[in-house]
Amino acid sequence: MTSTLIANTQPKIISDSDCRIKLVGLGRNEISYHLENFGIEKQKLKMRTKQIFHWIYNYGVRDWSEMTNITKSLRKELEIRFSLDRPKVIEKQVSNDGTRKYLIQMSPGIEVESVFIPDVSKTGALCVSSQVGCTLTCKFCHTGTQKLVRNLTAREIVLQVIAARDDLNEWPTTQENRKLTNIVFMGMGEPLYNSEQVGNSLDIICDPEGIGIGRRRITISTSGIVPEIGPIGLRTSAMLAISLHAANDELREKIMPINRKYPLKELMQACRDYPGLSNSKRITFEYVMLKGVNDKPKHAKQLINLLKGIPSKVNLIPFNPWPGSDFECSDWATIESFADIVNKAGYASPIRTPRGRDILAACGQLKSESEKLRASDLRKLNISSNKS
Ligand code: SAH
Ligand code: SF4
Repeated sequence: MTSTLIANTQPKIISDSDCRIKLVGLGRNEISYHLENFGIEKQKLKMRTKQIFHWIYNYGVRDWSEMTNITKSLRKELEIRFSLDRPKVIEKQVSNDGTRKYLIQMSPGIEVESVFIPDVSKTGALCVSSQVGCTLTCKFCHTGTQKLVRNLTAREIVLQVIAARDDLNEWPTTQENRKLTNIVFMGMGEPLYNSEQVGNSLDIICDPEGIGIGRRRITISTSGIVPEIGPIGLRTSAMLAISLHAANDELREKIMPINRKYPLKELMQACRDYPGLSNSKRITFEYVMLKGVNDKPKHAKQLINLLKGIPSKVNLIPFNPWPGSDFECSDWATIESFADIVNKAGYASPIRTPRGRDILAACGQLKSESEKLRASDLRKLNISSNKS
């Protein structure tokens, strides 16, 4: 009896006897720093960093022996100090629509979900997480029921991309017909409460000598953390998506408590001021269709008024249910007439086809098991909780 209790309250400890420095997921500066500490001569540091960066992010190598432009003896020494290991993909699920969900273990107790969504046109987007859990509590979102465990580091964000490319066999980067062409920060967490690491991760993901995904193919989605919107635009030049979901303060406050802190007037002003905004770089407004809550014609009209003067498109997202959720998805006919009103006002308003619902991989359904480890458990494991 006692032993069962202890077993249930103990955090999972995964033994990792390899204490070499892990290079995969790090940026040029960090790689260079480690190489310098290792003893690479100053005049060769830039060249060696470039070579290793290219092998990791262009070729996806997993073994030092593959780095053929580095001498055998140096490779052997590097291998003793540095590893090219990936994090463990604990679980992979493939939906009957081709969507792939990965549960990745970054370190003991830190589990992250990311989702690859293939498109009909042979392109596809990887939906990455920026935090484990979320501090915000949007009422319709499953992640919102999971307490924040901690922010992810830039490395852990990049590792999600690496894991997906491993699975999709997408190395080297120069390979034609790549499937993973876009990245959306629409997984677990609020990216603008982790702006610095999100910005750093883009520098690695977008580096043309590595994975080389264009900045305009990356979309950062936010629930509306107003003071961070302008700075993230300047820092990353990425596309912006706003989780709007209601076009009046009263309703938005009810379903998204963050609206009390940053009401619509301020949010819309930050959108108007978004760096580089133009008709070719529009803001995407996401609008989840909740039956009887925000789906009436009057709501569509409020939305049109709110968007006036902002180059924008509206993504209508049928609500994805999750265990214990209080909402229902609007009827299809209601969604279509809502789309029609918005469209007639001159805004593109595609209805997003729900993807991966059968494996709980659709928008707002992600929730990893990491929250089972409470802060005290994390302390026992010597992991800081790094809350924002
Ligand atoms: N925290 C960020 C990004 C992650 S959420 C944000 O809120 O924008 C990604 C998108 O899924 C957001 O637009 C979010 O509002 C939406 N979403 C959350 N729960 C949902 C659900 N159950 N059904 C459909 N969309 C949902
Ligand atoms: Fe957090 Fe975004 Fe979910 Fe809101 S919708 S709880 S901000 S992940």
